Amino acid sequence: MSRVAIVTGGTRGIGEAISLALRDMGYTVAANYAGNDAKAQAFTDATGIAAFKWDVGDHQACLDGVAAVAEALGPVDIVVNNAGITRDGVLAKMSFDDWNEVMRINLGGCFNMAKASFGGMRERGWGRIVNIGSINGQAGQYGQVNYAAAKSGIHGFTKALAQEGAKYGVTVNAIAPGYIDTDMVAAVPAPVLEKIVAKIPVGRLGQASEIARGVAFLCSDAAGFVTGSTLSINGGQHMY
Ligand code: NDP
Repeated sequence: MSRVAIVTGGTRGIGEAISLALRDMGYTVAANYAGNDAKAQAFTDATGIAAFKWDVGDHQACLDGVAAVAEALGPVDIVVNNAGITRDGVLAKMSFDDWNEVMRINLGGCFNMAKASFGGMRERGWGRIVNIGSINGQAGQYGQVNYAAAKSGIHGFTKALAQEGAKYGVTVNAIAPGYIDTDMVAAVPAPVLEKIVAKIPVGRLGQASEIARGVAFLCSDAAGFVTGSTLSINGGQHMY
């Protein structure tokens, strides 16, 4: 029986590319999503990959969602925490709700999904968790104290959980994408985006498939000695 992978936010953008890459590795993939039913249906129709709707910021929904995937497809050995949102604004204009919502989904989602899946991975002696951070969690970004804090938190979360999984064959890693050509980046005003691209040494936005290839490696058997690491895939925009 092939291993089962859940990709949160797996029906569009970077997550869609990750779902396809893991499917192409021979894994059985469940793509989670939040609310865009039309896109999720189109994704399933085009790929045959099952889509499961729940809010990763809701603790109980994650416990129930992972249980539903396990019931339908088998025990979950791989989780890619990719779902994320932005609620940008300078601190003076950022509401408490904008802060909480980004923390709840982007960082809380990682905790909720790990709580739902890590124990089973440990018991079975094999697991892969990949958390999608961001260049803006590494370097900060104007107008994103909520997003940068949540993504930076993901990198700490990754290193801490990696230590708990290492003895049990469960690796926990992060990927920090730079600017990738998805709906999220399409929402950035064009003049701002031009300035961002001008700072990317390779001279272009990244493609979702370029993040997915990194995730696929970290989810493979070959990556068993890689844990607690962050792979930066950003066209050379931030090197440290
Ligand atoms: P998109 O906005 O294109 O897609 C986001 C996905 O996440 C959608 O599938 C959406 O579901 C899902 N989602 C959002 N909120 C929730 C929720 N509460 N529960 C479950 N699913 C949810 O994002 P990207 O593909 O651009 O980004 C993917 C990840 O990569 C995010 O974590 C983002 O922060 C990170 N990232 C992106 C970068 C970029 O340049 N694009 C750069 C660095 C990091 P639905 O379709 O139902 O709305």
